[in-house]
Amino acid sequence: LLPPNLFYEAVQQAQVAISITDLQANILYANPAFERVTGYPLETMMGLNESYLSDHKTPSIVYKTLWGRLSQKKPWTGMLVNRRENGERYLAEVTIAPVLDPQGETVYYLGMHRDVTEVY
Ligand code: FAD
Repeated sequence: LLPPNLFYEAVQQAQVAISITDLQANILYANPAFERVTGYPLETMMGLNESYLSDHKTPSIVYKTLWGRLSQKKPWTGMLVNRRENGERYLAEVTIAPVLDPQGETVYYLGMHRDVTEVY
C-alpha cells in the first residue's frame, strides 16, 4: 500500500514547476521547483494570478487557444514567455490540465512548466 503523503511529497520534490489554481488561474499551491524557476518566493505567489508570470510577449491567440482547450476540459501544452522575479525573461514549456471532480466538472487547474530557454 502506498503511504498517504506520497503524492504530496512527490509533487513537492518534483523538478518540474507545479502549481494548482482555481478556475480564474489564481494560485492556490506551488511547489519548491516553481519557486526556483520563477524566482518568486512561494508566499508572494499565493493568491496571485498566473498571468503575473507573463512577460506580455506571448501573442494573445496563444492564450485564446489555451483557454479554449481548458473550456473543453482538455489539457494544453505550449510555449509561453515568462519573466522571473529578477526581470529575466525565460521560455516556458507549459502543460495545463483541468482537474475534474467525480461529476466531471472542472474544479482546479494543474500547471506544470520548465525553463527551456537553453534548448531553443
Ligand atoms: P487574460 O485576461 O488572462 O486573457 C487572455 C485570454 O484568455 C482572453 O481571451 C480571455 O478571454 C481568456 N481567459 C482568461 N481567463 C480565463 C478564464 N478563467 N476562463 C476562460 N477564459 C479565460 N500565463 C503565462 O503567461 N505564463 C504562465 O506560466 C501561465 N501559467 C498558467 C498556469 C495555469 C495552471 C493556468 C490556469 C493559466 C496559466 N497562464 C499562464 C495563463 C494566465 O492565467 C493568463 O491567461 C495569461 O497569462 C494571459 O494573461 P492576460 O492578463 O494577458 O490575459
